[in-house]
Amino acid sequence: MRGLLVGRMQPVHNGHLQVIKSILKEVDEVIIGIGSAQLSHTLKDPFTAGERVMMLTKALSENGIHASKYYIIPIQDVACNSTWVAHVKMLTPPFKYIYSGNPLVQRLFIEAGNKVTEPPLFNRETYSGTEVRRRILLDEDWESLVPKSVVNVIGEIDGISRMKHLSKKEA
Ligand code: ATP
Ligand code: MG
Repeated sequence: MRGLLVGRMQPVHNGHLQVIKSILKEVDEVIIGIGSAQLSHTLKDPFTAGERVMMLTKALSENGIHASKYYIIPIQDVACNSTWVAHVKMLTPPFKYIYSGNPLVQRLFIEAGNKVTEPPLFNRETYSGTEVRRRILLDEDWESLVPKSVVNVIGEIDGISRMKHLSKKEA
């Protein structure tokens, strides 16, 4: 039995890891869709799909989750919400369950006849991509909100400099 979780993961944080662990208690394999895969180099979506794959792969390994338990699939946006589910299914292994807290994602899968589960949120005030990105720009503690391997990947790709550079106003 397989389940699907979709998120932009900008960046991967501890909430993503916790929800993936809880999904793996219910299904044998989890498919993790990296949403808005075409986006990068903006303040809301700073990291490329490849960088997000690297963060996720290393964070899952760090947490002892074996590669046989998951698939990581980058998913680009499509122009039509009404065809998005078919687009996702074209790219992913077959799955029965879909886990999402996003109302649009929930609605589109319900209308396609899938079983949608809303997973519990863990420490949502701090475990959120928006909060991690906010703290990075303000030099506040963000490292405690993400797995150690994500700190390392962001270091390797010089992600902090990228975000701070993008946040500058053109003169
Ligand atoms: P952003 O603030 O950039 O939207 P986010 O933290 O909401 O980032 P997404 O990548 O948009 O992260 O999240 C996708 C999915 O990951 C959500 O729909 C939700 O199911 C799950 N998720 C995100 N944060 C948490 C959390 N703290 N606890 C449990 N699940 C989470
Ligand atoms: Mg979100």
